Amino acid sequence: MSSGGDYYKTLGVQRDATLDQIKAAYRKLAMQYHPDRNKSPEAEEKFKEITEAYAVLSDEQKRRQYDAYGSAGIHNQYTQEDLFRGVDFDDIFRGFGFNLNDVFGDFFGSNVSRQRRATGDIRVDVEVTMQEVYTGVEKEVQIEREVKCKTCNGTGAKPGTSTMTCPTCNGTGQVRKVQSMGFASFVRIEPCPRCHGSGRIIGTPCPTCHGSGHMRSSERLKVRIPAGIDDGDELRVKGEGNYVNGRNGDLYVIVHTLPQPGFRREGPDLYASMDLDFVDAVLGTTVYLNGVNGERIELKVPEGTQHGSVMRLKGKGLPRVNGFGKGNLYVTINVSIPRSLNSRQRELLVQFKNAGR
Ligand SMILES: [Zn+2]
Ligand SMILES: [Zn+2]
Repeated sequence: MSSGGDYYKTLGVQRDATLDQIKAAYRKLAMQYHPDRNKSPEAEEKFKEITEAYAVLSDEQKRRQYDAYGSAGIHNQYTQEDLFRGVDFDDIFRGFGFNLNDVFGDFFGSNVSRQRRATGDIRVDVEVTMQEVYTGVEKEVQIEREVKCKTCNGTGAKPGTSTMTCPTCNGTGQVRKVQSMGFASFVRIEPCPRCHGSGRIIGTPCPTCHGSGHMRSSERLKVRIPAGIDDGDELRVKGEGNYVNGRNGDLYVIVHTLPQPGFRREGPDLYASMDLDFVDAVLGTTVYLNGVNGERIELKVPEGTQHGSVMRLKGKGLPRVNGFGKGNLYVTINVSIPRSLNSRQRELLVQFKNAGR
């Protein structure tokens, strides 16, 4: 990956830029250089550069290290995978309409997507109502996963038996491969295919897992869904994925929010509309609405409210997922005009028309 440049310059931000400014700058550049959108040959390289800059500057610790030691310090300290771990790309790319795995599959040598499979990460979908988005909720999810074999505790060997020295490599874990190419021959050292480099093999395989060390298990897990979560957000539950090669992968919970009739959502903001009698619009009134949480919300309609006007109810939207306050509720007023009048109403309106106009 090319870099070594100035991450701040790469993103076009000041050295004291806030996280929001960094995020906004990256989002804008990513939009411009994402290879799905930009077919110029430089786009790919540029996209890698801005993404690396963002990964570092959006992480408080990495940013401090970069400020102190420059990008060389970052490259000495982190592997490529570590560099991008913890970066919330979904948040950045949400709504862009391109697949995150494509981005990293293509541009970071498939590390991220392959890593997912190798570490045994699993995905599960959950649905939450708007009211649950409002309050946050604990959901139980049903997953099928590989767990450490309970009979052999993951060793793969029948309990009471021991492992033995691999006869293929004599315990070295390595084999020599001789390859002939014309008149020359090359010797290559490779991990032993029988013991996968460990030098030991199982004498008597565990009867439960047949030597694999893991077994299938159907389980229910409780997952905490934070208030304010958005449709399509992913929650990572560390260590709750498949048990593979002696390690636990992670569980990714994909949250789907169910629509609530009468409300439209944009992030933490809610949009609704309300019919209002024309006399109430003229004279002003106080009405009550039901919020997504069933909360009764008072709305003071001022005198002379026009059809189509939008009233903002500050803080009556959904909680922000970062925990800082709530969004707003915007109510569009539809003034309704009666289609017919009784004779008394007609008389009064004629009087009204003639009174001082
Ligand atoms: Zn076993
Ligand atoms: Zn071996």
